[in-house]
Amino acid sequence: MRQAFRASLMHCLKDPGESSDTSAVESIDDGLLVVEDGRVIEIGEASVLLPQLTDTTAVTDHSGKIIVPGFIDCHVHFPQLDIIASYGEQLLDWLERYAFPAEAKFADFAYAEEIAAVFLDELLKNGTTTALVFGTVHAHSADAILQAAEQRGMRLIAGKVLMDSNCPRELQDTPASGYAESKALIERWHGKGRLGYAITPRFALTSSEEQLIAAGRLAAEYPDVWVHTHLAENKTEVEEISKLFPHSRSYLDVYDKAGLLRERSVFAHCLHMDDHDRDCLSKKGGAAAFCPTSNLFLGSGLFDLHAMRAANVRVGLGSDVGGGTSLSLLRTASEAYKVLHLQHQALPVARALYLATLGAAEALYLDDRIGNFEAGKEADFVVLDPAGSSISERRTRVANSLDEVLFAITMLGDDRNIAATYVAGSLATAAA
Ligand SMILES: [Zn+2]
Repeated sequence: MRQAFRASLMHCLKDPGESSDTSAVESIDDGLLVVEDGRVIEIGEASVLLPQLTDTTAVTDHSGKIIVPGFIDCHVHFPQLDIIASYGEQLLDWLERYAFPAEAKFADFAYAEEIAAVFLDELLKNGTTTALVFGTVHAHSADAILQAAEQRGMRLIAGKVLMDSNCPRELQDTPASGYAESKALIERWHGKGRLGYAITPRFALTSSEEQLIAAGRLAAEYPDVWVHTHLAENKTEVEEISKLFPHSRSYLDVYDKAGLLRERSVFAHCLHMDDHDRDCLSKKGGAAAFCPTSNLFLGSGLFDLHAMRAANVRVGLGSDVGGGTSLSLLRTASEAYKVLHLQHQALPVARALYLATLGAAEALYLDDRIGNFEAGKEADFVVLDPAGSSISERRTRVANSLDEVLFAITMLGDDRNIAATYVAGSLATAAA
């Protein structure tokens, strides 16, 4: 059935850059988004499109609000939902003290299912319709999250974690068992409906060289599967890697040598790396997930977006919950703005929107399906409410342009500013 949604519309056609190239963004003050069978038919001025609709088209009026494409979270850990905002440590101690004990609980499948459901409902409440998700070492953690995504019709990519060293015994697999379990999960889930699988070595500290090589072999066997891991997040971590892998030029080189750097490889953080690495990442088609709330919270460092984009590296935003402090990509973009400001880099709101939508889709090689409102794309979208909180209501009332309203929502907003989230044209969640 054909449906239409009336509101202000905004979406990106390409990266607007630091100077906010206006040809990169399409915004319509009083627009109409027309959807059928879960896909975008067209967008345009409401005054033009409304008279052309047939009587059978249902029109939902979201006037006063802004419809943007569904947000895409390029890096998040669903098993860490309940340890979000845990005090006081940097990465390696944080993993020992908080993350590993939380992940051990996922040995229980019923518990994994329960958290998976809560996690995806929270994502939808925050306007996130697609995510690249870490599970735990337990193969059934991937079953739990992918099954929950299937039930909600979401486009989601997830994987079971590979880790065979430098972590608690009960959270270890082996190169052989990790390979076999991942392969079985790929066969079960990858390409089923809107779902995808990611081969997910946690990072080079917790996978032996043998395990990384086995993961690389799997990545070569299944070139359209994703690879998802962490890279150069914390300085102590980077030093440990150089001791463990003395024959590699850099941390990225460890993954590259194992066959884990290719198109559809997504590396969270990418903070402590040089131009050579960025160039290599770009040439091989890998992507970086920019996770500002996590990088600030764990004191890891500042992401250099300018250098990344200058090297043509694909970049999307990641919440990195539970190291990150919010599932909201509005909040994440707000922290990204500040992280870049500290480095004398600009983040115009159009580029923030790009990093949360089309840029993230490009990072995941999904921009032929999601990320903006081009005709034929899957109709995942978010209705932003400028009046979601009393302060954003006051601020946006005096704004002079759609751009200014969206910037204020991005800086001040959170799940209160998400009026509704639609997945493939169907209402997934709406504010009470
Ligand atoms: Zn992470």
